[in-house]
Amino acid sequence: MPLLTALSALLGQGGVLTTPGDRAPFERDWRGLAQNPAVAVAFPKTAEQVSEIVKLCAAHNAAIVPQGGNTGLVAGGVPIAGRAQLILSFNRMNQVRGLDLAANCAIAEAGVPLARLRQAAAEAGRLFPVSFAADGTAQIGGAISTNAGGVQVLSYGNMRAQVLGLEVVLADGTIWHGLNALPKDNSGYDLKQLFIGAEGTLGIITAACLRLHPAPRAVATALVGVGTAADAMALFQAVRASAGPALTLCEFMTDEAIHLGGTPPFKAPSYLLLEVSALEEDAAPQLLIERALEEAMAEGTALDAVIAQSSQQRKMLMGLREAIPEGELHAGGAVKHDISVPLSRMAEMVAATQTLIARDFAGCRLNIFGHLGDGNLHINIRPPGGMALADLNKPAITSAVECLAVQLGGSFSAEHGVGQFRLNSMAAHKSPEALSMMRRLKTAFDPAGLFNPGKTIP
Ligand SMILES: Cc1cc2nc3c(=O)[nH]c(=O)nc-3n(C[C@H](O)[C@H](O)[C@H](O)COP(=O)(O)OP(=O)(O)OC[C@H]3O[C@@H](n4cnc5c(N)ncnc54)[C@H](O)[C@@H]3O)c2cc1C
Repeated sequence: MPLLTALSALLGQGGVLTTPGDRAPFERDWRGLAQNPAVAVAFPKTAEQVSEIVKLCAAHNAAIVPQGGNTGLVAGGVPIAGRAQLILSFNRMNQVRGLDLAANCAIAEAGVPLARLRQAAAEAGRLFPVSFAADGTAQIGGAISTNAGGVQVLSYGNMRAQVLGLEVVLADGTIWHGLNALPKDNSGYDLKQLFIGAEGTLGIITAACLRLHPAPRAVATALVGVGTAADAMALFQAVRASAGPALTLCEFMTDEAIHLGGTPPFKAPSYLLLEVSALEEDAAPQLLIERALEEAMAEGTALDAVIAQSSQQRKMLMGLREAIPEGELHAGGAVKHDISVPLSRMAEMVAATQTLIARDFAGCRLNIFGHLGDGNLHINIRPPGGMALADLNKPAITSAVECLAVQLGGSFSAEHGVGQFRLNSMAAHKSPEALSMMRRLKTAFDPAGLFNPGKTIP
């Protein structure tokens, strides 16, 4: 039976999209930079259906591109050119199967949007801490497969730190029922780790058991104006020294960056968004921030500051940060980077990038923002006014910025993954030993190269 006929019989009404018009939004990445045709888009409802799809695709030599919310920034969830590929969407596998409050965990299907899990956790008085601007659309399966970070990694860790167990369909159609809820389990290899951050190249995640945390009862959020990245680092270190893990957010934005997200309440060369959370209502995290800011202003590391006085004001301050990626896209886009360096080299990284761009790419606009407390910055370069993004020498810019990060002991991909867009960077910066181990793992798990070809491994 032809593949599409068999898929339609398996998945029923609404289970397969085949026309070019219906497929198009699934075939193109969030920024519209990569677009290639798929044979169809399939919408399974169960792990058993995913297993059957894998067997059908193997029999018809069609590769599978797993796709969550399609918000990934490296085109990992859309097809490559030159191979028959089926897009496997999780939009119909979107149930929170249940919360176990005694074990502090939730079981969610791969297609549950992160924000919906956060909401379900909040309704039960718990926190699911992975949060970022696209979390209303990004899904559990996609976030696990990219090991997403977001704005609260500082205190709670990235997606990997939340995963207790996984349900995964392997390349021969086997379903691995690894949904355990054990914080401790040393019975051999920790197999779930292999699928976290694997970008759909080793297996297809159909559900996950995820850690929940106590929900903070008091939160204080401040936007602080700073002169330089070195001042921002000094302020971060000072607040972290007094707040410890209660410092749940520390985001850096240059003036150019913040204006892509909105208009800040005051003007400064750069800004730090800080949040301190407390489990008890009377813990007064605001006092802690106020004290730290008073000291920072006396020392000259902070120039100006506002502390949110209501949840509305907090939302407004958070909105300035969260709106940057979309604002940047609407302003014509940028050559984007997602680097990390050790915290001790952060200020140096920012200063060296500013020098590099001014010297070698004169007129380009530098837009730096991101998760300063994690050593992770998005260093994005926009063309000079009047020039199109396409006219920038993207490979030269990317090579220069990423080499700088790697020279400072950092990584060219902190949280977005590799997908299609960072394959050259992998070839340039990943060690031959690491690449060899990755290739051996890929061959062991997916000998026919069925899962997400042309991604992650150059
Ligand atoms: C405005 C904006 C802000 C962002 N902010 C952040 C941020 O702060 N931190 C951060 O880390 N990321 C951020 N991202 C990037 C992106 O949102 C994350 O990478 C997210 O985790 C992707 O989830 P998704 O469901 O959209 O996955 P997709 O984009 O659909 O897929 C991502 C990868 O996962 C694979 N995949 C998807 N589902 C499965 C599955 N069930 N099984 C196996 N493989 C699968 C895909 O094949 C692909 O390789 C941002 C993106 C946008 C657009």
